[in-house]
Amino acid sequence: AKSEFLANMSHEIRTPINGVLGMLGLLLDTGQTDEQRHLAETALSSGESLLTLINDILDFSKIEAGKLELELIDFDLVELLDDFATTLALKAHEKGLEFICSADPGVTAFVTGDPGRIRQILTNLVGNAIKFTSKGEVSVLAETVSETDTESLVRFSVKDTGIGIPADKVDSLFEQFTQVDASTTRKFGGTGLGLAISKQLSELMNGKIGVNSIEDKGSEFWFTARFTKQPKENRDKQPEIPGLKGIRVLLVDDNQTNREVLLQRFIQWGMRPIEAEDGSKALQLLHKSLDDNNPFSIVVTDMQMPGMDGEALGRAIKADQRFEYIKIIILTSLGLRGDAKKFEDAGFAGYLTKPVNHKELKGVLSVVLGKENTDMITTRHIARESVLPVFDNKGYRILLAEDNITNQQVALGMLKKLGLAAEAVANGTESLKALESISYDLVLMDIMMPEMDGYEATRQIRDPESKVQNHEVPIIAMTANAMEGDREKCLEAGMNDYLSKPISLRAFAEILEKNLPSSKTDVTIPSDSKPVPKKENAAQDSAEMVFDKELLMTRLMDDDELAVTIAKGFLSDIPKQIDIIKEAWRAGDIELTRRQAHTIKGAAGNISGLQLMEAALKLETMMKSRSPEGIDDLITDLEIRFSDLKTAVEYELNLTDKEEKS
Ligand code: ADP
Repeated sequence: AKSEFLANMSHEIRTPINGVLGMLGLLLDTGQTDEQRHLAETALSSGESLLTLINDILDFSKIEAGKLELELIDFDLVELLDDFATTLALKAHEKGLEFICSADPGVTAFVTGDPGRIRQILTNLVGNAIKFTSKGEVSVLAETVSETDTESLVRFSVKDTGIGIPADKVDSLFEQFTQVDASTTRKFGGTGLGLAISKQLSELMNGKIGVNSIEDKGSEFWFTARFTKQPKENRDKQPEIPGLKGIRVLLVDDNQTNREVLLQRFIQWGMRPIEAEDGSKALQLLHKSLDDNNPFSIVVTDMQMPGMDGEALGRAIKADQRFEYIKIIILTSLGLRGDAKKFEDAGFAGYLTKPVNHKELKGVLSVVLGKENTDMITTRHIARESVLPVFDNKGYRILLAEDNITNQQVALGMLKKLGLAAEAVANGTESLKALESISYDLVLMDIMMPEMDGYEATRQIRDPESKVQNHEVPIIAMTANAMEGDREKCLEAGMNDYLSKPISLRAFAEILEKNLPSSKTDVTIPSDSKPVPKKENAAQDSAEMVFDKELLMTRLMDDDELAVTIAKGFLSDIPKQIDIIKEAWRAGDIELTRRQAHTIKGAAGNISGLQLMEAALKLETMMKSRSPEGIDDLITDLEIRFSDLKTAVEYELNLTDKEEKS
């Protein structure tokens, strides 16, 4: 009962948080004033900390109940560290701390383990390091301790230059609810759960956790974890970016750790890096390279350096005619709005905020090196877009089954960003209906839905006896449950993959790429068709149209035949549905009346019969109230709307004509 309760609470809390975080993420992409952006970002980061807190409490309860188990999946450890760095850097930079996060090049990237839990321990340790450090740096390094052909033991170290921990307190640190002293807590906040959870997690990964600390100097929290290596084929398939090999790059940064990390990366990519610790040394090296006839193609410089900063260095380089061909990429810790523009005007070729995500840096480097002199600066976003898969114009048909309207919008918004569109339905029953009339390429399936949940819907889709067109359609679970065993349950029910909410765009893109059929041959899209529908979700529109043909056609990728099939099915089905409603209401069956209205609403939405949808919605809403009134009128209204819609659909889709001809 306890764990059931937790699963439910987890769902109930995470569902709205998914809405909040997802919407804020989308909002931030719409362009806003500096102040609005700041407000939205603050809200986003508060939402994220709330989520961490909830997760901590849940985890702790699970550990107590001995219910915590690891999830074993293939992932890329180096990429995980990169992503992780991006999320935590903001916090470190806000406090003016240098933040470094990197994996030793010897670390096997493609491993099998529990990435979520690794991230969780790191978040705890780094969160603490930032919290207890007021100046200096926080660095995260991963290195291999030992390895065999099949396994590797990795040590993660989180070092800070903060307040440190008195020797006599070290022993009790990893016990739950322990904090070094109450007054510290009052100043710093926290629950004293983080380290206890981290200890349990590292032990579950056959590792250990520990700390080396000197009071007033700083601490190193470390943990180890054992991973299984992925088969060699997986490890070798890392795509090489051509165009970086042999390129001479000058790296300028005053921070030694940073230089080391980047140098190793450059070498790994086949580049030839030289380092300089400040601007004047960099200029010296540049002049020398001219004398030696061994010029640099590119300069990667930090912005914040004592003496000559990165901007001044860049301007100095650009002021010298002889260096005209050199491309400069600037890395800055303080991503100020308008920075990119400023650097672009100054002639810089690329701009990235720290900590540098190696994938993004690689993207920016190859974009910068690959293009002829243009004045446009290459930023993280441009590079990232080249990293995210784009599904444009492939004509994929995706069905989204999700009852929560906000979450529907979040998912639709993300799909749109990826160049995809989906049709949304509100529960399992509706998803089956949709799958009976259209052969979709992929289904995104929420788990907890009214009427029919995701598990049951999946079982029916997979059941060869059901009327669904394609029983093999890939189904991706989208769930706000974070309990151990959920993944297994989804797979058992016949789903192919699993996304946990709040959904990250990156994870979403990857899962889609993995599960969408790779070539789409049976749907051809004329080149002049509109690839991204303007309105994917009829429910978003206020209903002023009887029948929005344009919307329907966009959603059906302009497939006339399909539209006719759907319309016919709809027109013959709805009168029956209306009869059922009348019957149910006469018999006083409130629940059935409500459900029936809900179904009509969905069907009307599907065909873009906006007024009928609105009428059904009104009826459904009224049925939910404690004392429904005016129902007879609403039902009459429903009938009128349907008859209007029927006329419109028949006219617009030429249905009567066709009947006569055939
Ligand atoms: P919380 O941070 O929520 O209080 P933790 O279990 O993560 O809980 O940490 C327990 C205590 O350990 C902290 O309250 C703090 O006193 C001490 N501590 C943890 N990390 C550090 C650090 N990097 N530097 C100094 N003290 C630390």
